[in-house]
Amino acid sequence: MLNFHIITLFPEAVQPYLDASIIGRAQKEKKIAVKYYNPRDFTSNKFRSVDGRPYGGGPGMILAIEPIVKTVTVVKSKIKDKKSKIKIILFNPGGKQFDNKIAKNYSQKYSDLILICGRYEGIDSRVKKILKAEEWSIGPFVLSGGEVPAMVVVDAMARQIPGVLGNDASPEENRVSSHEMYTRPAVYEHAGKKYKVPKVLQNGHHAQIEEWKLRKKQK
Ligand code: SAH
Repeated sequence: MLNFHIITLFPEAVQPYLDASIIGRAQKEKKIAVKYYNPRDFTSNKFRSVDGRPYGGGPGMILAIEPIVKTVTVVKSKIKDKKSKIKIILFNPGGKQFDNKIAKNYSQKYSDLILICGRYEGIDSRVKKILKAEEWSIGPFVLSGGEVPAMVVVDAMARQIPGVLGNDASPEENRVSSHEMYTRPAVYEHAGKKYKVPKVLQNGHHAQIEEWKLRKKQK
């Protein structure tokens, strides 16, 4: 089983997505487990504050070291299996580009992934060093927090685990670029124009269909 430990100030924004559909089923079938930890629960000041102003000035606030590191310590203490292989990931728009190759590789190599979601202007840079964490980006754009990246990573990784998808669907995963796809009706009329499903897909000739799919993908 692959265990995800998501460290976030907004677990309520993440859980409903991961509890739905295929990923929800993967949890029920114990192919993956997802746990949530809120750094606000691991602060030592009475205001439960998790952020501070940036050294050197500038706008916004920075997530402070202590609540994050404390939370990770708690997470690690809860991972009881001595044989666990733990990897700590920090989300950063400037980090290494996450892709399906990483998803597959890491889903096989590790038993426990600790995903740290940034917020505000980001996380104090020393956290990366202290935790020996890797920094991942889900793409060249800036989001308001690491929660969507965490959902992306859990979703993409879970799909790489044997049995999470139906057998038919699994080979598709390695290709990323998907072919065109259609469902009923075979002809759809919109604004006086007819939109048709390619004939080859309707003739039941599997070799021809496979050839067509490959050709479409090469474009
Ligand atoms: N002002 C900051 C952006 C902070 S975004 C800067 O210029 O770098 C706040 C947090 O959202 C980040 O700490 C990170 O955890 C997350 N985040 C935003 N976009 C992301 C992306 N494309 N990939 C991964 N994490 C992202």
